[in-house]
Amino acid sequence: MTETSLFDTSAPPGVFAEVVFDRPIDQAYTYAVPEALRDRITVGQRVECSFGRGDKGSIGYVIGIGDVAPQRAVKSILRFADDVALVDDQLLKLTRWMADYYLCGWGQVLHAVVPAGARDKAGTKNATFVVSLLPEELPHPLPTVTPKQKQALDRLKQEGKPVELPRLVKMLGGGVSAIHTLVSKGLIRKFTERIERAESVEPGDDLSTPTTATPLSLNPDQVRAWDTIRTALDTGGFHPFLLHGVTGSGKTEIYLRAIEEVVRRGQEAIVLVPEISLTPQTIERFRGRCGQVAVLHSHLTDSERGAYWRRAAEGKVQVVVGARSAVFAPTRNLGLIVIDEEHENSFKQESTPRYHARDVAIMRARLAKVPIILGSATPSLESWHNAHKPGGYTKISMPNRVENRPMPQVTLVDLRHEPKTPGKYFAIGSTLEKGMRDALKAGGQVMLLLNRRGFSTHVHCPACGYVAQCAHCDLSVTFHRGKSALVCHYCGWETPPFAKCPSCSQLAIRYQGLGTEKLQEEIESKFPDKVVQRMDSDTMSKPGSHERVLDAFRDGSIHILLGTQMIAKGLDFPNVTLVGVVNADVGLHLPDFRAAERTFQLLTQVAGRTGRGPKGGRVMIQTFTPEHPCIALATRHAYIEFATQELHHRKEHQYPPYHRLARLIVRSEKQEASEAFANTLAGAFKEAIRRHATPGTAPLRLLGPAECPVFKLNGYYRFHFQIQSDITSPLHAVLREVLAVAKTPNGVEYQLDIDPYSML
Ligand code: ADP
Ligand code: ZN
Repeated sequence: MTETSLFDTSAPPGVFAEVVFDRPIDQAYTYAVPEALRDRITVGQRVECSFGRGDKGSIGYVIGIGDVAPQRAVKSILRFADDVALVDDQLLKLTRWMADYYLCGWGQVLHAVVPAGARDKAGTKNATFVVSLLPEELPHPLPTVTPKQKQALDRLKQEGKPVELPRLVKMLGGGVSAIHTLVSKGLIRKFTERIERAESVEPGDDLSTPTTATPLSLNPDQVRAWDTIRTALDTGGFHPFLLHGVTGSGKTEIYLRAIEEVVRRGQEAIVLVPEISLTPQTIERFRGRCGQVAVLHSHLTDSERGAYWRRAAEGKVQVVVGARSAVFAPTRNLGLIVIDEEHENSFKQESTPRYHARDVAIMRARLAKVPIILGSATPSLESWHNAHKPGGYTKISMPNRVENRPMPQVTLVDLRHEPKTPGKYFAIGSTLEKGMRDALKAGGQVMLLLNRRGFSTHVHCPACGYVAQCAHCDLSVTFHRGKSALVCHYCGWETPPFAKCPSCSQLAIRYQGLGTEKLQEEIESKFPDKVVQRMDSDTMSKPGSHERVLDAFRDGSIHILLGTQMIAKGLDFPNVTLVGVVNADVGLHLPDFRAAERTFQLLTQVAGRTGRGPKGGRVMIQTFTPEHPCIALATRHAYIEFATQELHHRKEHQYPPYHRLARLIVRSEKQEASEAFANTLAGAFKEAIRRHATPGTAPLRLLGPAECPVFKLNGYYRFHFQIQSDITSPLHAVLREVLAVAKTPNGVEYQLDIDPYSML
């Protein structure tokens, strides 16, 4: 597009709108607002404009309206895309901040945060309702009715409001014709209305009114926590809290109190939880107490999402519970944000805009001038650090479990010294096996964590050293027996398993390495009379399967639940008396400065799944490196000690939270092109860093360029480099300066990740 293509001398003078489009450039374009649209146009509204020559119409967001004519003639807005603004002033400010901080287009951010279903009016449909009549509306004399008709009539009266026809039929277990007869007899009324689709799915299913759960009486730690937070709610204003409470310390009760209070004041709350914790159990706890709760989970259709968005914008929802994207929920009068398990990596989005929902939430709370509670048993080191510096978060500690329940006792099992059966390999050593038998014999249930799915994770040829790899990635593939395929866990590429080595044709191919599928087989053969269930993304892909398994586990019909990190988070089953970690070392040795932190968090979280009931509980951790500090400290539930040590290490190596990190990945299907551009870009950065260096402040540091730890991914060759900056260094200025003029060659692209979480 050239500059001149924006010229349009026929545009009327008077009112002008600034419009941003879903493009990776952070720039707004000026359009004239036609006479007919002037009195209805608002900031935050979507409009259709011609963008460049030959463009029939692109959708953009109005981000400003003014009456100062630009220097040159401009084109006119063609039409409105929606009748009303989709984003309010606060969301505009928030997305503007994101565009600045994450260095992407404002229009791009807006496009990403407003759900598709809210943008298009696809979310409505015609629905038929029936409603009972007032006594004076009924015919005289009353016609007689059959028992089936009487039942429908009574049920409808009981409801006391219009009910969608299919729903009434469902409640009655049939009887459409009986209902139609009632209509023709004049005993009930039928009408059609245009409604949002989500409403027609199951009212009360995802948007429900409170049931009658009563608040618990708080223990002394909780009283202290609640007093601190209530004072902030009373005072008003931005106030960030870090609620550090061990697993089972009753953090949720504190969230609930705060939310109830906010709702009582006629305000709304946003609650962010990791997607994995959006279980019916969690949701029920909020629903029981907090007014109209909307749940935004990933299984929702676009139109359902859109419906929630609109209802929240209309002020009809008091509490929005959801994963990452719920941070953008368009509330009317926001009073509080809560982030449970704030340390979770799933709050970071790995596609543009690469935002971290915790950081965005902090900014949102700041803009809305409301308190925000970050809760965790193992806070991220970023948040922990923030809670210890002047002017940072207020830390609230709940170091004990409710009702003085003890923390579970953790035993380390050193796999190097477990007795071995010659010629046989078992994932479960004799110590853990005995622990399981004891727990099960006493009527308890067992959870086993193995953070690796599939059957064999290492398929190789001992004759020539060949290792089966993905055709598109530098990653070895995992054998999945269920689907009889070798699968790349990154890109999903699959190939049939082979009996002969593709490289040397020997028949010696070995399937080694342990995944959850193989573990399940071993457990089933060791415990033939027990019900074993596996929970990982392979078995839990269908909507509802997660809930079904958890229900069965809760009612005791599953004895042993094994799975990936999916089982480690937030579940509360009082009858789990043993948690076994099959291999604590998975993930510990990844080339990522957060590997130890993640391992510590995972071990602590999974250990927290036991001892939650009167029966108590214990944890057994199998490891080859029991002396590793993060494993040793997790065994003692020593978060503070771990954080102190790890922060020391981070400081020494100039990693977050002491330094800020930006990562640039250059990728291309051609290796040389990728490498060449990475070098050019890094060179430009070095130059800019030199120019920006000011005496007295720490200069930016550039690390790399080098091949990414996973060099080839999805068919792309990837080089990366990192820029480390001291918190006050002009990181953004340098990034902006260099990237504004970077000329990306054809067939090459780069990705910028501010505060990266994925280092592979
Ligand atoms: P956390 O979120 O800190 O892991 P939860 O909020 O899930 O802990 O609380 C653990 C269990 O303790 C829940 O079953 C909860 O209902 C219960 N609980 C919370 N507070 C109290 C209290 N004051 N008295 C008794 N039980 C409580
Ligand atoms: Zn792959």
